[in-house]
Amino acid sequence: MQKLMGTAVYGGIGRGKIKIFHRDEVVISRAKVVDTLRELRKFAYARNEVAEELKQLYEQAVAEVGEDEAQIFQIHQMILDDSQYVSSMESLILKDHYNAEYSVVKTVKMFSKMMEEMSSESQYISERIADIRDVSARLLRHLQNRDEKVFKLDEMSIVCADDFLPSETIRLDKSKVAAICTSYGSANSHTAILARTRGIPCIIGIGEELNEELENLDCIVDSYSGIMYIQPDNETTKLLDHKEAVEGRKRELLTRLRGRKNITRDGREIEVLANICDLSDIENAKENDCGGIGLLRSEYLYTGKTDFPDEEVQFYNYRRVLTEMHGKPVVIRTMDIGADAGLDYFGFENEKNPAIGFRSIRVCLARPQIFKTQLRALLRASVYGDLRILFPMIIDTAEVDRIKELLNEVKAELIQENIKFKEKVPIGVLIETPAAVMLSDLLAQQVDFFAIGTNDLEQYANAIYRHNPHFEKISPDDHICVLRMIKTVCDNAHAHNIKVYICGELGAETAYTEVFLDLHVDGLSVTPSNILPIRKTIRSLNLSDRRQVRQNIQKHLRC
Ligand code: PEP
Ligand code: MG
Repeated sequence: MQKLMGTAVYGGIGRGKIKIFHRDEVVISRAKVVDTLRELRKFAYARNEVAEELKQLYEQAVAEVGEDEAQIFQIHQMILDDSQYVSSMESLILKDHYNAEYSVVKTVKMFSKMMEEMSSESQYISERIADIRDVSARLLRHLQNRDEKVFKLDEMSIVCADDFLPSETIRLDKSKVAAICTSYGSANSHTAILARTRGIPCIIGIGEELNEELENLDCIVDSYSGIMYIQPDNETTKLLDHKEAVEGRKRELLTRLRGRKNITRDGREIEVLANICDLSDIENAKENDCGGIGLLRSEYLYTGKTDFPDEEVQFYNYRRVLTEMHGKPVVIRTMDIGADAGLDYFGFENEKNPAIGFRSIRVCLARPQIFKTQLRALLRASVYGDLRILFPMIIDTAEVDRIKELLNEVKAELIQENIKFKEKVPIGVLIETPAAVMLSDLLAQQVDFFAIGTNDLEQYANAIYRHNPHFEKISPDDHICVLRMIKTVCDNAHAHNIKVYICGELGAETAYTEVFLDLHVDGLSVTPSNILPIRKTIRSLNLSDRRQVRQNIQKHLRC
């Protein structure tokens, strides 16, 4: 048995024979033509043919995966119609006398180079370049009179390739595809999205080991864990059968809960939202039927980079989350970064205790240019959905005053530049320091909502560094202090008619769900995999059984 690992983009178990997809090797020669008008006619004919194909692909995709995911083929149509793209090829033919095929290839090269230089957001750019290549490959096929390659499958297969173009994925005969595995690709590529929407187990980024030597071997794909088992032994097969049954039961539960309210048996409702760390988590959040995004940690835009993310990159990312959530609330937290992130470009001094040092909102307020770039991108994205902005590590009302001043400055700039944004974007603060708890009656008068960050609140309240290896052993296991703090925060918030969410890990512990409901917490934001258990627990509770609830509260709050 051989194991190959990659990144899971849609969870499932798929069994079948490995089939490797090869694209035709295409040879393009560079030639000079005399009859440029004839070459232009050839090019125009190919463009028409491609437009017709894209129309068909769009209709097929709408029928199979819905309007949203099918839009990729409309984007391809827009590329095909793009005046710069078209005029580049036409001018290479007319002015430089190049043959049409070479003009296409040269244009793709020029566009890719230009886009790579334009932005530092490599993932976004590589997806857009892949789209241009996909459209251009179609043009070349028509210019060379080649038929579209159809990947014929005659048994259940694990379909593998370097990467798939969106149109190749949509053309696959789904009834024979047990799973899709690729050597490269990104979790946000349209291929991955299409695979998810069609419910096909999918693993990407497996690397060079996924090659033709594996052709026709038996394989089980466990895309819950991102593992391909090639020629699996009996024990593995049994384990995976069991896993499939367990996951199947979870899916059943999801089907039963999908679209239902999170409401207790006696009618108390609570929002259940998702915590996500980057765009690749959106799909998982949606799959678990979240009520929105309760926390997007925006740090992913900064980490692993050599410079600050520019406004366009941030705008693209925020807009993407908002549009994907289709009007459901999306809480985006401004960056929470300190010297412990190891990011040289921030120029942090070394600190002995970065967790309680110059980090997060402190950096944003001390270096408003960094902060204002993020605020501009957020406000610009606000028109695409129900955005709420969350500010971390607050310890003082003066910080909120300053944040509001900067927000107003940014708004004034946008108005002057005629750029649209929503005037009333709700703002909230993370209650994650004891200071914020103690000031929560005042903070509640300044903002529109509170999110309680129990991860940091536990560490700062109990004075135990959250990454200390003995954290579990030395923390009080009934969370008494933090639960009492949550009570204070809820009381202060509700006295000023604002909502309270919990977005730290404690919110996902079902043993406390009843306590949170009884404290009138308005929402819980948890990692996507915790959404279902929480929703199941909420629907099983009956808060009208006061004696039971009182005992539970007394036990947990020691009151
Ligand atoms: C928290 O502190 O509880 C929180 C939600 O933020 P993070 O875990 O990112 O610090
Ligand atoms: Mg925190």
